[in-house]
Amino acid sequence: MRPLKSRPPRNLICPRTPRFLPPSNIQAAMTTDQIDDKEHPQLVAFDLDYTCWPLWIYTHVTGPLKPSGKPNLVFDKYGDKIAMYDDMPEILHFLQERDIHVAAASRTHAPNLARQALSLMTLPPSNKRAESFFDTCEIYPGSKIKHFQELHRKTGIPYTEMVFYDDERRNVEVEKLGVTFVLVPDGVNRRIFEQGIEEWRRRHKKGEGEKVVTKRTENRAAGSRGRYRHKLQGLTDTEMDEGQDGPQQGY
Ligand SMILES: [Mg+2]
Repeated sequence: MRPLKSRPPRNLICPRTPRFLPPSNIQAAMTTDQIDDKEHPQLVAFDLDYTCWPLWIYTHVTGPLKPSGKPNLVFDKYGDKIAMYDDMPEILHFLQERDIHVAAASRTHAPNLARQALSLMTLPPSNKRAESFFDTCEIYPGSKIKHFQELHRKTGIPYTEMVFYDDERRNVEVEKLGVTFVLVPDGVNRRIFEQGIEEWRRRHKKGEGEKVVTKRTENRAAGSRGRYRHKLQGLTDTEMDEGQDGPQQGY
């Protein structure tokens, strides 16, 4: 008989059961030349549970996990499926191809299981392991303020250059730091991903028709892999932050 686990503390009234959304019927806007010409943040972070995949790794999954031999699919001890939302593989490829730093910021109580899932799962079309798309992983219980302070400390990337997708409203507290928070109550798909990037552009005045300094392009030429970009420009964190809007309060 499958062992029962206690549910991690959450602020949701109703428990969720694992479910998979149907494929998004939104066109892959981020792959168009129009979108690609615009500025992107230096760092995009994702929560894991109900943001990257439709389950709680702590309550719905039992280790050890097993590879399935198929893309975007891992089995747990009892044969239950672990798979990312349909649009996530394409979004992660999009970010990696553009040298945008990708982070995982999860407060799961099962960090080892989460890391095991990322290490066993392969993502189409490249079929590289999911863990290879995440430059930094902050996976441990507690306030996500700590997760983002660690991301900032490790990468040197200003908070105002970070966009964070998460399904839990309580984690909006990271906006105190200046991070752009995007609530994804039904997980990440192409539409909400692009809406989040657009919101970041709106807040930091990186809209169409404006002359935007493309740090990504400059640093790509310098060989950067999405890290320490502003430091390559000889700017301190403070100088970078002073050039951006102040922290935004939202939601
Ligand atoms: Mg979550």
